[in-house]
Amino acid sequence: MLSSKNYSGAAPLAIDGGVPVRDTLLPYNKPHVSEDECAAVVEVMRSGWLTTGPDIREFEQAFEAFTGARHAVAVSSGTAALHAAYAAIGIGPGDEVIVPAITFASTATAVMMCGGVPVIADVEPDTVQISCESVRQLISPATRAIAAVDYAGQPCHYEGLRAICDDCKIILLADACHALGADYHGQHVGTLADISAFSLHAVKPIAAGEGGMVTTDNPEWAARVRTFRNHGIATDHHARQRHGMHAYDVEHLGFNYRMTGMQGALALKQLERLPEMHEQRRNIAAIYDAAFADCTELALPRRHDGATHARHLYPILLRLGRLRVGRDTVFAALRAENIGVNVHYPPLHHHTLFRNAAHDGLKAADETYARLLSLPLFSSMNAEDAHDVIQAVEKVLRAYRR
Ligand SMILES: *Cc1c(COP(=O)(O)O)cnc(C)c1O
Repeated sequence: MLSSKNYSGAAPLAIDGGVPVRDTLLPYNKPHVSEDECAAVVEVMRSGWLTTGPDIREFEQAFEAFTGARHAVAVSSGTAALHAAYAAIGIGPGDEVIVPAITFASTATAVMMCGGVPVIADVEPDTVQISCESVRQLISPATRAIAAVDYAGQPCHYEGLRAICDDCKIILLADACHALGADYHGQHVGTLADISAFSLHAVKPIAAGEGGMVTTDNPEWAARVRTFRNHGIATDHHARQRHGMHAYDVEHLGFNYRMTGMQGALALKQLERLPEMHEQRRNIAAIYDAAFADCTELALPRRHDGATHARHLYPILLRLGRLRVGRDTVFAALRAENIGVNVHYPPLHHHTLFRNAAHDGLKAADETYARLLSLPLFSSMNAEDAHDVIQAVEKVLRAYRR
């Protein structure tokens, strides 16, 4: 059995009975909600507008101003945003959408919710983002769109993806759930693709608890998302009230994907604080970057030229050739040190639901997954927390060095 105990001269790992680097668990992520934000939520509750009311439109307008997108439509989750976006661009039975292998499942399940077929593309091993080369190989006459995931908060290689979409006359959709606030060659996330989906889940760049947003410059698609989130009813009940009407018509299949006023009020305040929260995340990431630059047992994902990074996640890539153990042992050892590491994400084709979508061209995804680990990163973390993480990573990797 491989054990760190035979390594002399270093503190024993917590997993082997040693003293952990931290007394209490540092989570991999946690939301920060200010007193001001709590007050804004209570104010909505007192106003009586509990569901989608004027606050939601105010939040959408702030989102439009922040991203530069012409239209922003708020929905109840990131998954609802993806479902609504796929529906708005017309994905239906038999239509194929190319998605990256390493992403959260709903990038792909939302395609299936429309009756479409997710086709899994490989990732670039150094950025963990969708590989343009793999996408080109998977284009078929049924391909309608590419879903680009701005993994960890870094915008994808949009130039390459746009060229493929132009060549093949297909739609570019961004799953931008990690990347609110980042930009690519000076252009904001939310305007880089034809249509973009965001999550406002508790641990995403801005938190509404649960929530989502769709952005697009296409007014028809935006109108479809508005209808889609409200049971397929084109007129909203404020308009009916204003015009003294009671009748309504269900025009299309829709869902109840509305955002509540409380969520909207919280998210609006968080959006105002986003630049500050980014700064805090970037400071922590810079501490990690400096500490790990010369670490021979791990590599950091490659950064694109001309792109800023939202620093939603801080993934590292273990150099397994230099270690005596695999990722899962490193993971368990770091957890024992009270460092809340995580893994984003198991490749889609490893899930039972997508097993039939596996193919030979997913080697980089499999190899990348085997060495992937996310370190704690959130806006209310301090430099001391970051140094605990660094100390634990160095302690564990030193013990398991080959
Ligand atoms: C969080 C996330 C989603 C889903 O968002 P929910 O708000 O949890 O439904 C989809 N895609 C990616 C890449 C995500 O990180």
